[in-house]
Amino acid sequence: MDDHLWERTLDAVKEQVSLRVFDAWIKPLRPAGPVANDQIELLVGDPLTMDMVQKRYGAILESCLASEAGSHVQIAYRLAVKGSEAEVADRPEPPEQAAPAGTPRALDKSDNDPDGVSVDVVVNPLEGTGLDPRFSFESFVVGGCNQFVHAAAERVAERPARAYNPLFIHGGVGLGKTHIMQAIGNRVARTHPGLKVLYISSEKFMTEMIHSLRSQGIMAFKEKFRSVDLLLVDDIQFIAGKRATQEEFFHTFNALYETSSQIVLTSDSFPADIENLEERLRSRLAMGLVADIAPPDLETRVAILKQKASMVGIELMDDVAFFLADAIQTNIRELEGALIRVSAFASLTHKPITLGLVKETLRDLVKGHDKQVTIEAIQKTVANYYKLRLSDLLSDKRTRAYSHPRQVAMYLCKQLTSHSYPQIGQQFGDRDHTTVLHAVKSVEKKQAKDANLAEELESLRTMLRR
Ligand code: ADP
Ligand code: MG
Repeated sequence: MDDHLWERTLDAVKEQVSLRVFDAWIKPLRPAGPVANDQIELLVGDPLTMDMVQKRYGAILESCLASEAGSHVQIAYRLAVKGSEAEVADRPEPPEQAAPAGTPRALDKSDNDPDGVSVDVVVNPLEGTGLDPRFSFESFVVGGCNQFVHAAAERVAERPARAYNPLFIHGGVGLGKTHIMQAIGNRVARTHPGLKVLYISSEKFMTEMIHSLRSQGIMAFKEKFRSVDLLLVDDIQFIAGKRATQEEFFHTFNALYETSSQIVLTSDSFPADIENLEERLRSRLAMGLVADIAPPDLETRVAILKQKASMVGIELMDDVAFFLADAIQTNIRELEGALIRVSAFASLTHKPITLGLVKETLRDLVKGHDKQVTIEAIQKTVANYYKLRLSDLLSDKRTRAYSHPRQVAMYLCKQLTSHSYPQIGQQFGDRDHTTVLHAVKSVEKKQAKDANLAEELESLRTMLRR
């Protein structure tokens, strides 16, 4: 029997795959014994590796093996038994906790320094990935609003490209889309060191593409995105209306999908609601699992506040946490901002964080907070503000002069009162709750891009608080 068959096979495979793939997946394989009955048994360290190797590189392995052996050799994969066969699983152990960005982890010298020659190899599993280690599953608070997304994200991180592909996450501003997406990346980078992870915003994707076109580096650009195993593209809605970017992204998507690479996307809206998106891309986006993040309920907001506070070493009393969580309902980023302001104020003035201090610090934010705003008050204020008659605001007139104030009023009702969508619809001339839902989503979406609208809303809110 040929003693060096496996070595030669490895050399041949090496020619056909990237070094990254070779080191991560192929090199750790060990034959359990020589070829017998035209069959060779390969030992694999863990079930995931077995899956990946078989599916992605099985064919290459078999063909290289056949040409080295001179005849077809069947490969049987088997999980290595811990102990005697454990050397198979000699892929580097992932660190327990991802290192903070910018602090590379030095490998134990003995790992890479067999000849006693000291080489300072530093490996940071997050380098070049665009990931921020603070956005982890561990720091993500799960509540009814994000339970589904959280579960889906964990599945994807456990079984990249095998669970849901693509995973499309949508939801309003500041609700944790970027956080949960990065958590997937961080988890995969830690537990699957052989996989290449890349996080990018769709805007950055666009600028990099334009830059590469100018500098004639489009091939490098394509290669960069098509060689990853997990691509995370944040805020995909920004490529709407950008024809060339959509085109390039479409091809990137297809190339990755075909090679069973995992794709995760976020957006401020459901694929069908992203305007100016090419149809073929839209259908790709919705091809896997679409999951949405809703605004957090009170308990979740309190839990998030407490968690953020403990992360910076502050203990938050219940009354304070509930007060803040009640004052800021729709955006977790704002909730965090309020906490930062309060804690800065407390530390500058050397005072403990009490309810009194919070009210003092956030005076503008919570002014009128105790005052109950009614749907009627909102309707009247909005009608006045846009110089309409109340009856017109509640009418069926569909031109923008009426529909815009009407949508704004519905949005404010949802934001400032505790009425449900059907209740609001009823008070707006007996409209269906889906009309209200649509209005709220549409205002939410527009205000991020439309400074005039943001200003209108702010003035209206101030008037209503008086
Ligand atoms: P989005 O991308 O949806 O606009 P982000 O992911 O940037 O929102 O979240 C805004 C902030 O709120 C971040 O600091 C994030 O850590 C925090 N956040 C959002 N959801 C959660 C959660 N469930 N648990 C802990 N922090 C959260
Ligand atoms: Mg985001």
